[in-house]
This record gives sequence, structure tokens and C-alpha cells, in this order.
Amino acid sequence: MPETSFNCQRCGHCCQGEGGIVMTARDRKRLARHLGLDIPTMLAGCAESSGDKVRLRAGDDGYCIFFRQGQGCGVHPGRPDICRAWPYFRGNLVDASSWQMIQSDCPGVNPEAGHALFVSEGVDYLYEHDLVHEAGPETPHALVLDKALVRRKGQ
Ligand code: SF4
Ligand code: SF4
Repeated sequence: MPETSFNCQRCGHCCQGEGGIVMTARDRKRLARHLGLDIPTMLAGCAESSGDKVRLRAGDDGYCIFFRQGQGCGVHPGRPDICRAWPYFRGNLVDASSWQMIQSDCPGVNPEAGHALFVSEGVDYLYEHDLVHEAGPETPHALVLDKALVRRKGQ
């Protein structure tokens, strides 16, 4: 059985921290639909803006407001792309030292698999799940693939 580069351990660490969960227009639409709300009502209750970016709020415990201890994401089908893409973020794909650093925070990343496999599985995953974004003012930089990793149609 070959090694795989990532297997989520459901520790919840990636749902902790403020300001990291940036939502694109598609994310806002999907989350509002999942919650049964219109977009302005969802944003008023769940999000905050800074500059061009719209982010999910964190609760007093420092976790995303949708994180439930012992259960995980409370909006899993409606979660934003940045939650779906982790740990296959641009920086972790282009830089082996970033990949090494995240291993202390994310026990799902398998150091034994090596960075090259992390990159190839990660790029496959991002394309399979429609998580590759064009650069833009409201787009999280983490979701914009480095040019060297972008695939043309049919590749
Ligand atoms: S930090 Fe890693 S292992 Fe833990 S829940 Fe997030 S993705 Fe899964
Ligand atoms: S939306 Fe869900 S997966 Fe994303 S940070 Fe919040 S609890 Fe975690």
C-alpha cells in the first residue's frame, strides 16, 4: 500500500485562529444556502470584512464560530473552499520548508510520504474538487496555484 500525503485526524487545529477563513463569492453563496439564509443575513451573523476580504468570524474560544468541539465542522457541506483545500495551500505546495513546518500543527500531513508526493496528490485533489482559483482581490492567495503547477485542460 503506497503512502499517502495526507489523512485528516480530525483534531480541529485548522479551525482555530482568527481571520484565516476568507470567503469568495462562491463560498458566501454556498454557505448562505446551506444555512437557509440570504447572503446579507448570513454575512451579518457570521462574517467580518477587512479590506477586500470577507472572513468567517471566530468565537470567544478562538475557533471558527462553526467549529463544534468533539464534532468538527458544523457546516461541513457548506464550508468555504479554503477549508476544503487545506493543507494543499500554495505555500505548502511550492515550499518544502512550509510543508515541514505545518506538520507540527496538522497531524494529518504525513512526513513519510515526502514533499513531492504531497505536491502531486495536492494538485490532483485541488483540480478534482474545483479548488483552483484565479488571482483576484477577494481570493485567498493560498488558493491560487503557482504557475509551475497549473495544468492546461486535458493534462
Ligand atoms: S489540523 Fe490537519 S489533521 Fe487536524 S483537523 Fe485540520 S486538517 Fe485534519
Ligand atoms: S467552516 Fe468548518 S472547516 Fe472551516 S474553519 Fe469553520 S469549522 Fe473549520
